[in-house]
Amino acid sequence: MRVVLVPFPLQGHITPMLQLGSMLHSKGFSITIAHTDHNPPNPSNHPNFTFVNLPDQLGPNSNPTFHDLLPVILGINNYCREPLHKHLSEMIENQERDGGVVACVIHDPIMYFVDSVAKQLQIPSLILRTTSAAYLKTMRINVELHQEYKYTPLPESRLLEKVSNLEPLRFKDLPSPLHVRIPEFIIQLQRDLINKGSSVAFIWNTLDDLEGLILSELQEKDNIPFFSIGPFHKLVPKLSTTLIEEDKTCMEWLDKQSLKSVLYVSFGSLATLESKAVVEIARGLAQSEQPFLWVIRPGLIKGSKWIEDLPEGFQEEIGQRGLIVKWAPQRDVLSHFAIGAFWSHCGWNSIMESASQGVPLICKPCFSDQRVNAMFLTHVWKIGILLDDPLDRESIEKSIRRVMVDEEGKEIRENAMDFKQKVHASVQQGGDSNKCLNELTDFIASLVM
Ligand code: UDP
Repeated sequence: MRVVLVPFPLQGHITPMLQLGSMLHSKGFSITIAHTDHNPPNPSNHPNFTFVNLPDQLGPNSNPTFHDLLPVILGINNYCREPLHKHLSEMIENQERDGGVVACVIHDPIMYFVDSVAKQLQIPSLILRTTSAAYLKTMRINVELHQEYKYTPLPESRLLEKVSNLEPLRFKDLPSPLHVRIPEFIIQLQRDLINKGSSVAFIWNTLDDLEGLILSELQEKDNIPFFSIGPFHKLVPKLSTTLIEEDKTCMEWLDKQSLKSVLYVSFGSLATLESKAVVEIARGLAQSEQPFLWVIRPGLIKGSKWIEDLPEGFQEEIGQRGLIVKWAPQRDVLSHFAIGAFWSHCGWNSIMESASQGVPLICKPCFSDQRVNAMFLTHVWKIGILLDDPLDRESIEKSIRRVMVDEEGKEIRENAMDFKQKVHASVQQGGDSNKCLNELTDFIASLVM
């Protein structure tokens, strides 16, 4: 049986889709990845998969940050429809010759066009949710709230108030803000991204130990099977999915550091920071006196090519105590003995990767789901502390000490280690995520019976 996977072409979405492909391949399915021109995966890293191309007409140099994603999403959903239809039709036509019945299509919810193509061709479709269940629950309420604040936006004075039914979130933590006017077509797009459409199941990169209650709540409403088989990276052999070249020299530098002494700092693949914030981060890191490994992706600092905007003399001042790289092998970094904490933007993959290693977090969300994740990490799961705005060197220094060394942060460090045990149990034979993967395998097989 063949399963066709359609990822959205950003790092945080491609990685879990390829990992899912690898899991399903190990269960005996043939895997086809239908990918856009933008950010294609490297086929030589996945010799067992077949790849088909979906021309997206985005142009060769598009490298979007979060704020220019909208035309990318709309363009891909428009232009990739026909090519996917063509590829799937051919696969169905040739399935006897090729020895693989197309069992289903699994797509990222941002590739919402897939739903209608699959429906037209009568192929069952499943959605892979690459974010937290907490985020989906929040977005569904958030979109409803837009109706209420459509004509009179929420006054800014209410931003710190808690949102009912969404404890512990405050209005300022909502992914789609209510205090600014959002065009109706964006709200409609948000609806498309949270609906199940005609999908027959949801697959989650999360685990019941963390989000069981929210998952049950969501499933009751959606009334389709849910398969929570996270963290994906713990259920697949090591897989290279990076779109940016990793600087592996940081592993040698980490080897020279002492146990749990290093703060790893990364803001993921999409976020950007004002240079003023970067100066505060640099000063806070220097003042904390903890060793650190800081990923500054080219383009992370707004208006700057790379690290020109760091305070003058910063690198000389920190000397061997700190290392800056453009992109790190993050999963290896987080499992290194020297890492004591992770200052993260709270992207969902980063959280799964950190929490499954028992690494506590300093949470500085930048946008969207990251705000929700940060609040759950700090107020519900209690494996991190929140760095709220405004970002200043003193609060940074204090947070680093608290999470890494102070007595005050002991509980967070212990909770993070407990969480590591839970993940370990969940991915073992007989553990929840492992069992759920087997159930997903049976479910997909049943679709062609
Ligand atoms: N990542 C990496 N090296 C880095 C920074 C990030 O390999 O230096 C990977 C990280 O392991 C994760 C992904 O990039 O799998 C980022 O996904 P996430 O959901 O955390 O955030 P996003 O980039 O989507 O905002």
